[in-house]
Amino acid sequence: MKYDVEGLLQRQFAVSEHYRKVFTDLENVRTRTIDFGKFHYVLQYNPCRIGSATADTKKKVTPDNCFLCEAHRFPGQIALEYDEQYNILVNPYPIFKKHFTIVDKSHVPQEIIGEESKMVQMAEDLPGFTVFYNSRNSGASAPFHRHFQACETTELPIYQQWETFKNGGKVFSLTNYDDNGFWMVYDGTRFFYMIHIDSRKNATTYLAKILGHLKYELGTESPEANVGVAVEDGMYKIVIFPRTKHRPDEYFATGDNHFTISPGFADMAGIIPCAVESDFNRLDKERIKSIFNQVTLDPNYLPKLDPLKTAMSFDKHGKLITHP
Ligand SMILES: [Zn+2]
Repeated sequence: MKYDVEGLLQRQFAVSEHYRKVFTDLENVRTRTIDFGKFHYVLQYNPCRIGSATADTKKKVTPDNCFLCEAHRFPGQIALEYDEQYNILVNPYPIFKKHFTIVDKSHVPQEIIGEESKMVQMAEDLPGFTVFYNSRNSGASAPFHRHFQACETTELPIYQQWETFKNGGKVFSLTNYDDNGFWMVYDGTRFFYMIHIDSRKNATTYLAKILGHLKYELGTESPEANVGVAVEDGMYKIVIFPRTKHRPDEYFATGDNHFTISPGFADMAGIIPCAVESDFNRLDKERIKSIFNQVTLDPNYLPKLDPLKTAMSFDKHGKLITHP
């Protein structure tokens, strides 16, 4: 591998008791599978995620108190240089057995626009890994500092179920030519786009177009979405979960209706870290449906985003140009 992330992990364990502990805990983590037939979610009882799940994302954070800026990083955290712009760090509160954070060296707000091609490049440079992104109001616990994350693709249910979703399942709309194209899927819990293309250039173009369109249609400052990019056997596999809500009503409810669940890419991709044990014990199919339907787009909205109807052309502001 061009970037020795395995070596980074070992070097990090060598110098930090915290890292050794949290990653060892993860090896023995309790999980529970919630089966929906053609796909599933995996619940993970992971108490170390409590800080991320309850992060105050409105808090004013500057380079003087930012945990992604070099001077204030997690104690003992070491970095691997990715390029002139990014460093790779080991995530101190992991969900995945190999969990990295790829941080911008500058304290700039979380933003994917303009970095689409870099993100695809990162996935290409980390074979076997999915590089993922949480937008500012969709699971990022550090909206104030640009970062991506990476985990092994084999750990993500959405990629295990890739062919099932691509070949059928409950597909809302389908554009499929020679196994190259993009799909819109609504599976009863969440809506997402899948891009499956053999050229880096086209994969990047579609990613940029979909994100630009989401930003325009939903009228947000930055496109609100959870995005994953993996490169496998020469195919670029991108999944985009458009988001409407940062946290579901259950997060703010009290009593039995309260769940400390704040979905990010991992959750949307099928791994739900539960920082609270009772959440881990109580989450069921109905609750998962409720939570995921709230934070992603309403299926009634889909025709507006249907590439079949639009041929997916956009003007320079990201506005869709429809072709009759
Ligand atoms: Zn920062």
